[in-house]
Amino acid sequence: MAKIKNINGTSDNDCKCGSWLKHWGKYSGQTANWCSEKSCINKDLVGAHVQKADVNDMSWYIIPLCSSHNKSTGVLETMESVKFVSANKKETCEK
Ligand SMILES: [Zn+2]
Ligand SMILES: [Zn+2]
Repeated sequence: MAKIKNINGTSDNDCKCGSWLKHWGKYSGQTANWCSEKSCINKDLVGAHVQKADVNDMSWYIIPLCSSHNKSTGVLETMESVKFVSANKKETCEK
C-alpha cells in the first residue's frame, strides 16, 4: 500500500492517449474497476495526478481515482495492486 497526495489544479487536462485514465491503462497494463483508494468502491473514475507522500520521490504519477477522491487534499492510502504510471509525457506517450 502506498500513501499518496492528490495534485490539485493541474492544467494538463489530457495527453495523446485521449484521457489520463486511458494513459494509465495503456502504461500500467491494468484495468480499473473502481477507485484506487484502498476502501473506496466508487466507479466514476478519472486519471488523477498524484505524488507519493514521500519526500524522496517528487515525481508525478497517474492512478485511477473517483471524482471525489480526485478533489481530496489530504493523504490517501491506495490499494496494494495499483500501478503508478508516470505523468511525464516525455517519458511515455510523447517520447
Ligand atoms: Zn498519454
Ligand atoms: Zn474514491
